[in-house]
Amino acid sequence: MDFFENVKRAVSDTAQTVSKASGEVADKVKTKYSIYDMNGDIKRLLGEIGLEIYQSYKNDEAELSESILEKCRELDEKNAQIEAAEAKLVSKKGVLVCDNCGEKISKNMTFCPKCGSKIGGEDDGSVTITVTEE
Ligand SMILES: [Zn+2]
Repeated sequence: MDFFENVKRAVSDTAQTVSKASGEVADKVKTKYSIYDMNGDIKRLLGEIGLEIYQSYKNDEAELSESILEKCRELDEKNAQIEAAEAKLVSKKGVLVCDNCGEKISKNMTFCPKCGSKIGGEDDGSVTITVTEE
């Protein structure tokens, strides 16, 4: 048997094996992806259910169990923390927050565009929030 024939055959066998294997891999990837996709849908739906429950908590529309109420209060807390953290970010960027209504105001404004109160005090952008850098 010719040496080069052997090599050729070996190469084409390998190529076949590889393409079959990569087909299986592609199938697996597809399956994994569709599972990932469905899990995403489930998460989204659970989120939407949660949001509806949270809204009914906010509007005081439904009687909710104590454990759900607890989670809703936790959500309130988290939202407040996010708001506070965002206010920190804003003040770091040199944007002021209205003392009266909390509206974000650019540094060069004298009056709040939302409530009209005068933006008072030192214009150094430090506001009243202390940020500790780590
Ligand atoms: Zn204001």
